[in-house]
Amino acid sequence: MATSGTGNEPGTDGGTAVSLSNVRKTYRVGEPVHALDGVSLEVPRGSYTAIMGPSGSGKSTLMNLVGCLDTPTAGEVVVGGRAVGSLEDRERTHLRGTEVGFVFQTFNLMPRLNALENVALPQLFRGIDRSTRRARARDLLERVGLGDRADHLPNELSGGQRQRVALARALVNDPAIVLADEPSGNLDTDTEAEILNLFDEFHGAGTTLLVVSHERHVAERADRIVHLLDGTIERIEELDGTNPGSEQ
Ligand code: ADP
Ligand code: MG
Repeated sequence: MATSGTGNEPGTDGGTAVSLSNVRKTYRVGEPVHALDGVSLEVPRGSYTAIMGPSGSGKSTLMNLVGCLDTPTAGEVVVGGRAVGSLEDRERTHLRGTEVGFVFQTFNLMPRLNALENVALPQLFRGIDRSTRRARARDLLERVGLGDRADHLPNELSGGQRQRVALARALVNDPAIVLADEPSGNLDTDTEAEILNLFDEFHGAGTTLLVVSHERHVAERADRIVHLLDGTIERIEELDGTNPGSEQ
């Protein structure tokens, strides 16, 4: 767990950020739908994993479970050392707030809060004093190249800048894992490249990333691609790091 310094030491340390053991998720709306049907996956700390699969294959269901937004019907999901399914709602909310960073396609920034306040917000869960929260938020804004936009409201920022604010916010609690569902889906090519480069940079600094994308060139930035089909892992493709787009 995040007991060692910032938890941002480069590379994997043999620890596990997230693990799923024989996870099933069944939705019952009339006929039961087995959205996940026995998925087992280890996500090592510091790793960069992409998830691909056709629409309806269970990608969002998987992300919601890892993101502690939902609990499995069977099997176990362990995030930051804790089994999500066994927690009370309040504990699960706390785990989500501290151990998971979300980057949504639609950014989900608070419209009336400026960039700095948006990034600082998730720390409210943690009883950190205001000046420390703001200093940490400022540091992260600088790391995503927005040190000079701290006072801007979301509607005063470009799409790419908003996505960078969302990324800074996702990282502010130094979570066990950062989840991104189609993070570049709304962005033009240049802005997408910027965000993917930032992912590479944070990955290089030790952040654990789990990214859903239906685009091969986005998924290929990861260390491996998990291919989902009909709620199961069809195959795991290991990438050797010499794919197009990664630094040569
Ligand atoms: P993906 O993100 O890969 O497109 P999802 O995880 O959203 O797939 O969905 C997997 C399957 O579960 C689909 O058949 C979908 O219709 C079903 N499903 C997803 N969420 C719900 C829900 N809240 N209630 C009922 N069925 C759902
Ligand atoms: Mg989906």
